Amino acid sequence: MSIVAPRSIHDLGLAEIGRELAGAGISVFHVKALWRALYREPVVPRLAEGGFLPPLQRWVDQVVGEGKPLFRDEPEVVEELRSSDGLTRKFLLRLRDGQTIETVLMRYDGRNTACISTQVGCAMGCVFCATGQMGFRRHLRPGEIISQVLLARRALLEVQPGQKLRNLVLMGMGEPLHNFEAVMAALETITDPAGIGIGPSKISISTVGVVPGILRLAEEPRPYRLAVSLHGSTQQERHALVPVAGKWPLAELMDACRHYCTTGRRIFFEWTLVAGKNDSVEVAGRLVGLLHGIDAHVNLIPLNPTAGFDGTASRAGHAFQQVLRAAGFPCTLRQRRGIDVAAGCGQLQTVVEKGPGQQRGH
Ligand code: SF4
Repeated sequence: MSIVAPRSIHDLGLAEIGRELAGAGISVFHVKALWRALYREPVVPRLAEGGFLPPLQRWVDQVVGEGKPLFRDEPEVVEELRSSDGLTRKFLLRLRDGQTIETVLMRYDGRNTACISTQVGCAMGCVFCATGQMGFRRHLRPGEIISQVLLARRALLEVQPGQKLRNLVLMGMGEPLHNFEAVMAALETITDPAGIGIGPSKISISTVGVVPGILRLAEEPRPYRLAVSLHGSTQQERHALVPVAGKWPLAELMDACRHYCTTGRRIFFEWTLVAGKNDSVEVAGRLVGLLHGIDAHVNLIPLNPTAGFDGTASRAGHAFQQVLRAAGFPCTLRQRRGIDVAAGCGQLQTVVEKGPGQQRGH
């Protein structure tokens, strides 16, 4: 076998697995059967039950038995919190090296959505974010990203047999466009109709404004949804909340967004409303000016307080929303759902690592 570094079977795409198995004389037909067993079946351990041709079964046994060089990504659930309405389940997952990440399953309005992490910690340092306050630890591998979707799908089937996980948001821990290659590799498997089969247009990639990543995403043929966290209508206002604005200033970010719009795809702008900082109607008016000519949808999100930031949630969301709507931009004011399960990314991990005293009640 040609793979040298220990990797997860989930790090490999269909073509790569095919190449690995071609050397053992295994046909494409049987490779596809393995692929279906990995991703179409809701419970991956069916692999261990056998049923493959002997050479393929030997390879599978090696993987299932964690023989080198391949293993399976199966993060351990360290902690699970459920919202009081039972519709949000948040998981703290331990990876093979002991690092922890968060995955959330949300079931609202007939939509089943998983929110997954792409890094352990985050390098972007947004001041109001528990993950940003934690700092960057490492990127996730494709397999670690995919395994969160498999876990969310299993969690959904536990409570609603027969239901499908159709929506995915990359809004958990980490900045997806800072881990571009691994994210794109994972999404290839996640969107493969013969794999997990979530449609690209049902997948939202959220960025805080990594300009090179937005430009690369504009070249991506799959129509993923792009969500840009803006939070400020001037460079100064934005920089105070999002330090990475120093690297990619607001004007450069908006140019990248305009370029992205040439693909014909809408951009979703996320706006965390912080009382007294970015929630006035004047700010909303400036935002309207910034978005001129862009096919934009604005999502307003009340701040989830974190221990490391003294901002408070705004009550001015409706007035802000009216300004955007009057200017012709679709604008939604998000409900603070899941607020009783440490809803903001990184908050559950912070609670578990440092104790509940580190987090304010929501
Ligand atoms: S909001 Fe997103 S990009 Fe900013 S620090 Fe948190 S995880 Fe990173």
